[in-house]
Amino acid sequence: MAKKPVIGLLGGGQLGRMLCQAAAPRGITVAVLDAEDCPAKQINHNSLNVTGSFKDPEKIKALAARCDVLTVEIEHVNCDVLEEIATTGIEVPSPDGQGTVVKRVPVHPSYKTIRLIQDKFQQKEYFAENGLPVAPQMAIESGNARIASIEQAAKRFGFPFMLKGAKGSYDGRGNFKVRAPDDFETAVTQMGDQPLYAEKFVPFQMELAVMVMRTEDDDGKLKKVYPYPVVETIHEDSICTKVFFPPRNVAESIIQRAQKVGCDVVSRLWGRGVFAVEMFLVGDEILVNEVAPRPHNSGHLTIELTESSQFDAQLSSILDQFPSPEFALKPRYPSAIMLNILGGAKPDSHEKLVDLVEGFSNPYAGVKLHLYGKESKPGRKIGHITTLGQSSVEQLSERTSRLIQFMDEIRA
Ligand code: ATP
Ligand code: MG
Ligand code: MG
Repeated sequence: MAKKPVIGLLGGGQLGRMLCQAAAPRGITVAVLDAEDCPAKQINHNSLNVTGSFKDPEKIKALAARCDVLTVEIEHVNCDVLEEIATTGIEVPSPDGQGTVVKRVPVHPSYKTIRLIQDKFQQKEYFAENGLPVAPQMAIESGNARIASIEQAAKRFGFPFMLKGAKGSYDGRGNFKVRAPDDFETAVTQMGDQPLYAEKFVPFQMELAVMVMRTEDDDGKLKKVYPYPVVETIHEDSICTKVFFPPRNVAESIIQRAQKVGCDVVSRLWGRGVFAVEMFLVGDEILVNEVAPRPHNSGHLTIELTESSQFDAQLSSILDQFPSPEFALKPRYPSAIMLNILGGAKPDSHEKLVDLVEGFSNPYAGVKLHLYGKESKPGRKIGHITTLGQSSVEQLSERTSRLIQFMDEIRA
């Protein structure tokens, strides 16, 4: 067996941890850049790990110096350094110890994709320019022109509409739903002076998501995109809480269209890896909400549902080794539900749920527990549960209703 390239990973949260869990049995070494006690390092000790921030240029270079390829578990990283590493290269000590040599390290997905996705407004402008369906949006001015600009958005979109921070947001933290003119001042104060944009409110009946693996040759030419099954995602207070496979009461034709939209989006990005495409279903129409250039909460159920999980696919794509993706990405069960374990009011609020899962004795559904090794804080994603069904998703939902009820109680 040829020696496998060492993968350098920026970020060691739960996504990094699950990537390491997929890498270990395949004999793939992952070097993680993050804090010493992060979830990924708890299960992935090695001498190549780097302690520090995935935003720190020097630490990113130190990681690149000891790896063959870089990837990310989070998009909020320093893109300029990634571009430098992938294009001009960085100086590293020469193998003979006499001076330095220039080393270039490929970055997957491409720094171009990560940079585009970091700015949610630019991301969707790009999708719209490429004929992909997105909700209408407009940039909001900063400084003194801000209120007038928000008034213009209200005129254009009507109430309610969304104000969103263009950069750095997650779990809906940069979003503000503007319901009436009275909200303008509060929105401005609450959002601070970050770059903002306004977006038409989408009265969706459901949110859908699809993970897509993208393969590419060494010259950056797209080889192929491979979709995972489409799932239904439930967000409560803007945080994803549940994922259903297959989406409930959605026509097969719509599911296929969603899968096609996901593939069209990802084929217009750059680099290898897996990508999550979040979508709104409104009437018969599908609109792209946003893309994550990495494994994603909506893809966690692939760990059990498909032969190759989203983490496996990220590794396979990056290493350009994947013998039978069409087969490996197909569902192996008729239904699956993923429930996020979010931290409750007390540090141990979730423990009853964990006990329940471990004592769960349902003859029809497999129940898999994933804890991330994170300290519990209210609303924080500290683990997830996947249940697998041999029948319809509605029946599976019925069978797991006790778990769902417990989960909702923790959040309450
Ligand atoms: P994350 O990256 O964690 O998914 P985020 O902070 O980037 O979240 P968005 O995906 O923009 O946030 O929005 C979070 C949720 O808010 C969406 O999943 C959806 O439920 C709701 N939402 C966002 N935009 C709109 C919109 N234009 N109309 C209606 N609901 C919306
Ligand atoms: Mg987002
Ligand atoms: Mg989102």
